[in-house]
Amino acid sequence: MIKKIAVIKGDGIGPEIVTEAMKVLDKVAEKYGHRFDYTQLLMGGASIDANGVPLTDETIAACKASDAVLMGSIGGDTNTSPWYKLPANLRPEAGLLGIRKALGLFANLRPCLLYKQLAGACPLKESIAAKGFDMLIMRELTGGLYFGERKTEEINGVMTAIDTLTYTEAEIRRIAVKAFEVAMKRRKKVTSVDKANVLDSSRLWRKVVNEVAKEYPEVTLEHMLVDNSAMQLVKDPAQFDVMVTENMFGDILSDEASMITGSIGMLPSASMNETKFGLYEPSGGSAPDIAGQDKANPIATILSAAMMLRYSFDMTDEADAVETAVEAVLDQGYRTGDIMSEGCTKVGCAEMGSLIAANI
Ligand code: NAD
Repeated sequence: MIKKIAVIKGDGIGPEIVTEAMKVLDKVAEKYGHRFDYTQLLMGGASIDANGVPLTDETIAACKASDAVLMGSIGGDTNTSPWYKLPANLRPEAGLLGIRKALGLFANLRPCLLYKQLAGACPLKESIAAKGFDMLIMRELTGGLYFGERKTEEINGVMTAIDTLTYTEAEIRRIAVKAFEVAMKRRKKVTSVDKANVLDSSRLWRKVVNEVAKEYPEVTLEHMLVDNSAMQLVKDPAQFDVMVTENMFGDILSDEASMITGSIGMLPSASMNETKFGLYEPSGGSAPDIAGQDKANPIATILSAAMMLRYSFDMTDEADAVETAVEAVLDQGYRTGDIMSEGCTKVGCAEMGSLIAANI
């Protein structure tokens, strides 16, 4: 297969970690007889330096002309970088919001997997960590409370702030479909999280998710209230496969879920639209404190590339091969500084990438 990949290396550690993901993709291409054509694009701080703006129409057009986007991270040191003296709409992060909007990316996928080799970093009780967990949180990204009308005004002499939480049936349906599609590629269980005992938007959410579920008889669906979900995540995370929820609930629960893995450098993410198109990036930021020093952990970006193979290109064996190679390298005892523990061998970003590529 020939696939066109738009590559945004970004700022800080971005160029280092994306280079390693490309090294791994090239090995996949060689082994499985594919061709990946890369188009390198600028966004964020690098684009500000070159073009005066964090995102250009050319970058958007080139992303749209590709099958998927692989991205590093955007931004610099918010205290010292001159990028943060610019107005908010010209700062690096404005590029990130702009590209998500331009590409219609409404579903954010964050897998949270506890590697048995890194179980010591999990802050949960040993008895819970020992069971392991492997879940994916799917958060609606373009609707809900964060995008509703808001205002602060004096009503009857009292200062009053109003935020509105709106979801249309179509917005709920498209994210529900995405959740069931992804569950079909995993362990075939969906937990839909809402607050249907209080909120109208949640009651509509539940009704639409139930309708979509009828199209996926192989997938087990359960509904869970958001407060209970927050508790269950730390009590018994192994019970979850795909958790789908609205924007604000997902914002909070996905951070809680990533925290219990204990290692941000290991967490990939994807943002997708209705088609198979997606933007794949590590969950962490640009880590300016370690940029350019060959210290960054490239695994989150490499696993993001594996998600691209699985969800955008339908290359299941190839994605499995990348994930298995990551496990093998961890089993062999290699660690970057952020996940280092006694008795292991410390390696840099480039060597970690080479080791993973060699295990494919
Ligand atoms: P950060 O995630 O960049 O760094 C937090 C800590 O984690 C640092 O100590 C860093 O060294 C470490 N870290 C992060 N990724 C790592 C990796 N792959 N390997 C080893 N260590 C890693 O968060 P921050 O310092 O709050 O933000 C730095 C910049 O990144 C800011 O400009 C912020 O806006 C931006 N940011 C961008 C994205 C994105 O591009 N999607 C996301 C979050 C933050």
